[in-house]
Amino acid sequence: MASPSHRRSLRTRRTVLVSTAAVAAAGLGAAVFAMNANAGAVDLAHQVLPAKDGWAASGTGTTGGAQADSAHVFTVSTRAQLVKALGSATNSTAKIIQIKGTIDANTNDAGKKLTCADYAAGTGYSLAAYLKAYDPATYGRSKLPSGTQEKARAAAQAAQAKNIVFKVPANTTLVGVPGTHAGITGGSLQAKSVDNVIIRNLTFSATEDCFPQWDPTDGSTGNWNSAYDSVTLRGATHVWADHNTFTDAPHLDSANPKYYGREYQIHDGALDITNGSDLVTVERNQFTNHDKTMLIGSSDTDSVGKLRVSIHHNVWKGIVQRAPLARIGQIHIYNNYFDTTTLNGYAPLYTVNSRAKAQVVAEFNAWKLPSGGKTAKLLSGDGTGSVAGTGNLVNGTATDLVAAYNAANSKKLKTTVNWKPALTSGLQTTAKNLATELAGTAGAGVLTK
Ligand code: CA
Ligand code: CA
Repeated sequence: MASPSHRRSLRTRRTVLVSTAAVAAAGLGAAVFAMNANAGAVDLAHQVLPAKDGWAASGTGTTGGAQADSAHVFTVSTRAQLVKALGSATNSTAKIIQIKGTIDANTNDAGKKLTCADYAAGTGYSLAAYLKAYDPATYGRSKLPSGTQEKARAAAQAAQAKNIVFKVPANTTLVGVPGTHAGITGGSLQAKSVDNVIIRNLTFSATEDCFPQWDPTDGSTGNWNSAYDSVTLRGATHVWADHNTFTDAPHLDSANPKYYGREYQIHDGALDITNGSDLVTVERNQFTNHDKTMLIGSSDTDSVGKLRVSIHHNVWKGIVQRAPLARIGQIHIYNNYFDTTTLNGYAPLYTVNSRAKAQVVAEFNAWKLPSGGKTAKLLSGDGTGSVAGTGNLVNGTATDLVAAYNAANSKKLKTTVNWKPALTSGLQTTAKNLATELAGTAGAGVLTK
């Protein structure tokens, strides 16, 4: 990996210095000013995470592909071009990939649309045969599916994965070209065991698994599980996800059928941060029309000492759960707007879940609760997680969400944490105007240069 000094361009360093001096003089929020200074001096594709902007600013900071030479700045608008520009997952040469328009992940190298049937061709998989083979009435509920149809399902799933999973190498910036509805539909970006990645100004839509797996042992009734998050970080460090939109649209969960009495769920996470991922800043994104939105830590034993994530100035609207589900790490959730009104059939269960000793600081966020909604249901936990922080509003009124949750639940949230957030530039100490402010500044399509 390149040293920090190599990874930051001179231009970038000068920008940061100028903005720091200006901030001192003007007394403005550092992140806001650094971002404006960057926007003036550097094009969108070359911008880096501002100083102190959340956990991803820690240590070497997050510069993505800003250091790329001209041979490694790409503009792509097809799946094949994206694959080529990404190159080998282990090639850490700095690169900038500008996505122009929407790339359909379910297309072949010639750009032809691929369907679920195309992926299943030759595997022997059919949903009807699968449903017959593992019907709980005959197969029982004690063991995972195995045998011919499960093998065929796995083969078909692997064929789809080969097409729709995009592996992101270290030192990469992926950025949508402004004004082009830039994004990826049907795809899954995967940053695995890599450092220094920027993902900005992209709409991730309709990430769908053609071949959900039945797990009769998941919960008391069994569940259909699917494999792909729109963005998945596994053991990834220094990641800045900024100004993106995540949505199931146009295929909403309300259209999912039920088999064995359970929803045939084709979606997994929107942005999952697992397997020892660390130093991540999730900023000014819009999460909407989705169920299991953001997992931090894949299990209660994921990775102690990692999973440090800052989540700020995001809009969460029409989200069922995991906004986020936080485990183990030191997680800062500030200046977010959570609209818990049911949207397009997505009926919220809870927003923030703190479990497995997660050390969550949630401050200066705003929640909208529909009439009849309960403040006590905005949070969730397993009795070991913490949620500290003040300045939170529910329907514009200062509210202690933890107290409300704890009054109604036996597995109580702890109210103290083992750390104090320091990388907090841009933090606003009032949540009053977040709903209107974020409506125009969060999500893809907002950034213009
Ligand atoms: Ca899953
Ligand atoms: Ca996932």
